Amino acid sequence: MGNKISAIDSKTENPTVKISCAYCQGTGKDRFGIMSALSTCPVCHGRGFHVVQYPLVNCAYCRGTGVSPIGGRYYCLACQGKGVHHHPNSQQKCPECKGSGVTKGGSGFYCSTCHGSGLKKR
Ligand SMILES: [Zn+2]
Ligand SMILES: [Zn+2]
Ligand SMILES: [Zn+2]
Repeated sequence: MGNKISAIDSKTENPTVKISCAYCQGTGKDRFGIMSALSTCPVCHGRGFHVVQYPLVNCAYCRGTGVSPIGGRYYCLACQGKGVHHHPNSQQKCPECKGSGVTKGGSGFYCSTCHGSGLKKR
């Protein structure tokens, strides 16, 4: 296994796409320097990118930033800091959170029904 990844391999049954890491914005460094300013990004382990399955939707919970809306400086637990979710193309909003990706009840945690994607699963 090498790290050479093509942009989109659409010939396979599970096409993958290379995206830059949302949490560190592709730098490979810890965005907030929690341990130190030079520590590697805990999400992409310093690579600066992720290889994820296609199709993708933006994470509604963190709005694609990869940063948790609660708990300040940690990565988004819904999308694991990637800023996106692997999700079938769907325009239907999650009936539970109405597309916000945030669970009801005021805890601020991500919606367990859609796992923070804000979209209804088919
Ligand atoms: Zn990263
Ligand atoms: Zn997220
Ligand atoms: Zn939801």
